Parts: sequence; structure tokens; C-alpha cells
Amino acid sequence: MPSNKSVSEAPITQMLNCRILRDHRLQREDLWVREGKILDPEKLFFDEQGYADEQVDCGGAVVAPGFIDVQINGGVRRPAVFRCWRSRASDGVCAPLPPAGGYGVDFSQPSDRVGDGVSLVARKLLEHGVTSFCPTLVTSPAHVYRKVLPQIKVQDGGPHGAGVLGVHLEGPFISAKKKGAHPERFLRTFSGAGAAADLMDAYGALDNVAVVTLAPELEGSRSAVGELRRRGVTVSLGHSVANLAQAEEAVCHGASFITHLFNAMLPFHHRDPGIVGLLTSERIPPGETVFYGMIADGIHTNPAALRIAHRAHPAGLVLVTDAIAAMGLPPGRHTLGQQDVEICGPHAYLAGTQTLSGSIAAMDACVRHFKRATGCSVEEALEAASLHPAQLLAISERKGTLDFGTHADFVLLDDELNVKATFISGREVWTKTAEEQQKPT
Ligand code: ZN
Repeated sequence: MPSNKSVSEAPITQMLNCRILRDHRLQREDLWVREGKILDPEKLFFDEQGYADEQVDCGGAVVAPGFIDVQINGGVRRPAVFRCWRSRASDGVCAPLPPAGGYGVDFSQPSDRVGDGVSLVARKLLEHGVTSFCPTLVTSPAHVYRKVLPQIKVQDGGPHGAGVLGVHLEGPFISAKKKGAHPERFLRTFSGAGAAADLMDAYGALDNVAVVTLAPELEGSRSAVGELRRRGVTVSLGHSVANLAQAEEAVCHGASFITHLFNAMLPFHHRDPGIVGLLTSERIPPGETVFYGMIADGIHTNPAALRIAHRAHPAGLVLVTDAIAAMGLPPGRHTLGQQDVEICGPHAYLAGTQTLSGSIAAMDACVRHFKRATGCSVEEALEAASLHPAQLLAISERKGTLDFGTHADFVLLDDELNVKATFISGREVWTKTAEEQQKPT
């Protein structure tokens, strides 16, 4: 047989024996990859008479687009530690555990080594199926943004770690009444000097910024939303006491996301449902989708509330971890931006208070919890961590799907949605070792 070498000389990989998430359902198909992109096998066969240079047996695994986390403040826990915390918490005991794989990275800390911290977290995220993310900064003083932002570069993922899509700046233009774990002394309002001037005064630059969370009830926020949209920044509403009309107004001016729905906003009221009402609002511009972040860690949102949100607006649900530096550290005091947090059981509180402060859950655990809590399909659970965040960031042409021509960033999962291996640009960047497979998840 003569060799029908494909038009491109680059090697072609065929992933066999798998169920691919494509067109919103799992399909028994092979996945073809060349030069880091998903290949259309029909074109390969008929136009190029090409063939696979390498075949990989996936052992019946689910193949989903790589997870995208648009809100993560820092460090990565190890699952074994979390289980241990859980059992102690259920006993009502918060005893210190021996240090077990703590990383303690906080992106909001103004050191000269922010880049190292981002790299460390990026590498650890591969274990959880995350192939790209938005490092997130909590409300900080101006000098911190100027120190930290230039050190966080937008970059592709690879064996070194998950890709960086841009920074998520949560604050400082948020409400003091719903500040949550954000330090009140650094909160800001818009001055009337113009949105661009206020944004630059706070952040210094927006070059590497993908998302800004602000409170739409602040005077001057409307022009800030417009200014951010003009610069290609996704605007999210959160840490806010906005009523529904204010939230709708912000959406009409370009806001498209809600930061950790239910947390740090007015509770749902039937006469004015506040920001939560955006999920079923009829004032959303035609063709637009309002997305909303959910911290599905089993703590920040009651499963019944998770079900309400999901059933009301499934297409907008975006799973986020909101993970903090304390992830991976034993119980006790740790830093988040300019404040201390206390880890007690599976909870992270602002030290000395009952205010929840980010989560210590990982994305794959959130996917599993979300599916369990809502009874949604495997496809819906996976799309909430891949397709939806990609649509939110307007990058679904290249990420968040397994469509032909998109980046070959994907995750192999077992039937319980435990991560078996993670691929970026068609390369295996993490795989579960035999030793790790022994551990219960
Ligand atoms: Zn927050």
C-alpha cells in the first residue's frame, strides 16, 4: 500500500475508545488532533487521504473540553486533606492536621514573585482538569495592582501549567454593604472625573485584565461598564446591593456576568429580586446571555438554591471555585489579599468572623457536586465548567468545546467524573498515577 501522507507533515493523533462531549451530548467518536487543534476526520480522509500517526486508547473515558476557572484567588488543595477536614468538621472538631501538600499562593499579595505563584497554581490546576484560568485579585490598594498586574502575563498552557486568560479584578468598585471578605478601607467609588480616569487611578492598567467585578448601583458605574467593554473586558456584577432595574441597566450597557450568584448580594425578594432576577429577566438585550458564577462546593450555596438557579437558567451557569490561598493548607490562619482567613473544617472564614471567604474546593470536585446536587446530566455539568465560561469570555471559537479547529485542550474522566488525564494543545500534561488511582476521591 502506498503511504498517503497527509498534506501537513505534522503528526496526527487519534484518540480511540472514548465518549466525546460534542454538540451538547456525549458521542462515541474518536477525537483527532493535529498541531494542537481538533481535526475534522472527514476532511482528513477525503481531502488529504491522511491517517493517524499515533493512536491512544482512552479506555472508554469521557473526553470533555478542558475546564476554565474564571475566578480563582490562589492555591490548590490536595483532595486527601479535604476529606480529612470534612470528617473532622462533621465531628464538630477543628483540630490541626499535619501539613499535607499546602501551597498557600495568594495572587493578591504584592511580592516580586507573583509570577512564580501563578505558575505553581497553574501547574497544580492540571490535576483538576483545568486547562485555563483567570487569576483573581480581591480589593487591593492602588500600589498592589501596580505591583501585581504587570507580573501576571496572559499565556498559553502546556506541560508547565494551565493557560492564563487574563486577570479577574474583583473590586474595589463594590458595595461596602456587601463587601464580604474584601477590606473596606480599600473600597472605592467613581469620582465623576470620568470612568477611564477612575479605572486607571485604581488599577494602573487593564492590559492583562479579562474580567472586572463591580457593583452597578455605584454612581458612575454605567460609564465604567461601557469603558470596560470598549477595552474588551468582561464586566461582572457582584458584591452589590443593586435592585433588578439597576442590574438590568448594567446588562443593557454591556455587563454579562454575575459574580458568585447569591453570595454578597441582596437575597431574592419576590417584589424586587435584585441581581438574582437577571436569571429570568425579560429586559436582557436580544441575543445576549447573562452568565452567572456558582461556587458549587456544597458550602457557599445550598443545593436547593443551586437547583433553582440551574433550572431557571441552565445556559448561563458557570462553575467557579473562588479558591483561596488556604486551599491545600491545614486548618488555621492564612492570608487573602490584605486580610487573614481562618480555615475550620471545610469552611474558610474571614478571621474572627462568620463571613465566608472564598472556597477551598477544586474545579473537578465542583463539577461532581454540581451534578449530584442538581441531578443534571453529565453533559450539563461538564459544559458549566468549559463551554459556558468560554462563551462568557467570548473565546468559544477556540476553547471550551471540542469542535473542529478549536484548541485541543481536553480532559479524560471516568464515569464518576474523576480526572484521569489532562491534555493541552493535544499534549498530555498530567495523568493520574497508579498510586493516585488507589486513593479514594
Ligand atoms: Zn467575592
